[in-house]
Amino acid sequence: MEELHSESQQPAEPEPLSSPKIIGLTGGIGSGKTTVAKFIEEFGFPVYYSDERAKEIVNDNEDLKAKIKQLLGEEAYDENGLYDRKFVADKVFNNKDLLEQLNLIIHPAVRNDFEDWVKKQTKYLIFKETALLFELKLNKECYKSILVTAEDNIRIKRVMDRDSKTYREVQSIMEKQMPEKDKIKLADCIIYNNTNLEDLKEHTEKVVFDIE
Ligand code: ATP
Repeated sequence: MEELHSESQQPAEPEPLSSPKIIGLTGGIGSGKTTVAKFIEEFGFPVYYSDERAKEIVNDNEDLKAKIKQLLGEEAYDENGLYDRKFVADKVFNNKDLLEQLNLIIHPAVRNDFEDWVKKQTKYLIFKETALLFELKLNKECYKSILVTAEDNIRIKRVMDRDSKTYREVQSIMEKQMPEKDKIKLADCIIYNNTNLEDLKEHTEKVVFDIE
């Protein structure tokens, strides 16, 4: 009894500071994931844009630049030292092995950058927008996943308007991505974006504030 009593007199251990909950936000081409991400920022939550950051990192991270040049040649960067997206795309097009090796270099650099970003965040919910959440199994590192999806025809038309691509061009990109039915099975929450922007914002708000 004595011992029990003395133990209960010990000061309580300080509670560890809880780390933020990471919510993965994904969707195929033209699904509207970036539009949803912007709404989420308007609601006051930080969003990490993986694809945008990847485009910056290939130019900013010297170690990564050296590795890319080693894999693809000096021409991977133009005369101004900037990543030559077209050269790289042509080089890895139809060369699965080379694309895989390139991804093995770029993805860990983005992961490190994301981890640095997470450390700086102070909100209890933070979002990671990425086209490849399920493909790279990044959902396993998230508290919850949100999939934005819409009917194929609607997505194709939206991308045709945005990027001035042909119907067939958008369709062929879509066909190379993970099928929607597989993503729907893996997602914790689904935002159907067949509607107007006002409804999309309302739906997004409901999904975000319902996360427990
Ligand atoms: P990607 O992976 O191709 O970058 P995404 O999933 O990020 O696409 P967005 O860029 O958000 O998709 O949306 C595609 C296009 O459709 C954009 O021009 C966007 O403004 C428009 N859009 C998205 N949702 C709606 C909507 N509900 N009503 C009208 N236009 C929309």
